[in-house]
Amino acid sequence: MELSEILTHLGEQRHEYFNAVAPPVIQSSNFVFDSIASFREAIANELGHHIYTRGNNPTVQILRQKIAALEHTEDCLVTGSGAAAVSASVMANVCAGDHVICVQKPYSWTFKLLTKLLSRFGVTHTFVDGRDIKEIEQAINSNTRVIYLESPNSLTFEIQDLAACASLARSRGIVTIIDNSHASPLYQNPADFGIDLVVHSATKYINGHSDVVAGVICGSKEMIQKIFNTEYMTLGLTISPHDAALMIRGLRTLELRVSKSNETAFKIADFLFNHPFVEKIYFPLHPSFDQYELAKKQMRGCGGLLTFKLRADSKEKVEKFVQAIKKFLMAVSWGGYESLMIPSLVFHDVPGIPDSPVHWSIVRLYIGLEDAEYLISDLREALESMER
Ligand SMILES: *Cc1c(COP(=O)(O)O)cnc(C)c1O
Repeated sequence: MELSEILTHLGEQRHEYFNAVAPPVIQSSNFVFDSIASFREAIANELGHHIYTRGNNPTVQILRQKIAALEHTEDCLVTGSGAAAVSASVMANVCAGDHVICVQKPYSWTFKLLTKLLSRFGVTHTFVDGRDIKEIEQAINSNTRVIYLESPNSLTFEIQDLAACASLARSRGIVTIIDNSHASPLYQNPADFGIDLVVHSATKYINGHSDVVAGVICGSKEMIQKIFNTEYMTLGLTISPHDAALMIRGLRTLELRVSKSNETAFKIADFLFNHPFVEKIYFPLHPSFDQYELAKKQMRGCGGLLTFKLRADSKEKVEKFVQAIKKFLMAVSWGGYESLMIPSLVFHDVPGIPDSPVHWSIVRLYIGLEDAEYLISDLREALESMER
């Protein structure tokens, strides 16, 4: 289906709500039945009916249809956070005694899901670099049930060969899950490469306005039903109808927003790459990126995340740079309209980023919807201030 059709019309039954152009927020916890037969039918398939909003809700259902279509999967669940989507998708596929293979620099709370939560329930894990399929293959044990990918990750953007991972996993009966937040459904559709479950922090590009925390899980009808029946319903991972309506509104401009962010990020990547005070940039679709060829094969664009290493011989210089920045807000998260910055100096302990002299000079930018020149002049002045 065409992107425009998905974002503008799919799932919207306007004649059912007074021909309103924008879908209503069905802010109701429960739904009425007028016969035993219809009530029984709904209970037999709660995900396909409206019984209770912890399960399904008409406003949320519109969003589910759009997201599933965007990710080329049969179905989708919307959760109250991206972390909920990550946790439910992994937990639904493991039992005590099982083993998970995970890329070594996943989102920080994904790391903790494995190391602090699932480890308490007898689920073991192995972290792999992920850039070499042979390393993943060697990590597979007889009890491996899940290979968890994040491609690219959201700091230094290492990527995995999705087709190779999917075919390896399928041949061993292992479920593949990917966190696709970075590329967004606009620029990468892992299901096309054979990945089983695609999760997003919808807080990022899908909502895109820095006013909702949410997640999505996309996959086959069967896998989505399985997650719904247990984790989604028992842990109560639901999203509110109001937040779902905000996300439907956010999606209207998904293509405009993410492509603008992407376009500006390319300009800023070039500017930083050519600046004498920048040692290295990390941007998957820049020719200087280690895995540029693979990135080009899998991704149609990059979005607005861009990391770089300052050429600085002291932490004080990095601090000078950071303090001189005015247009990038210093904050976590990304994917909204506003440009953001996180210096690695603020971290105490990041998986894969030890406090070494090589790494404290790393800064991650998120390029929002502001004009390129407006952002570049801010960066230029801050870089120059390092030498003052
Ligand atoms: C933000 C983020 C998450 C977690 O999502 P929340 O919506 O904050 O719960 C997961 N993965 C990645 C890559 C993220 O950036």
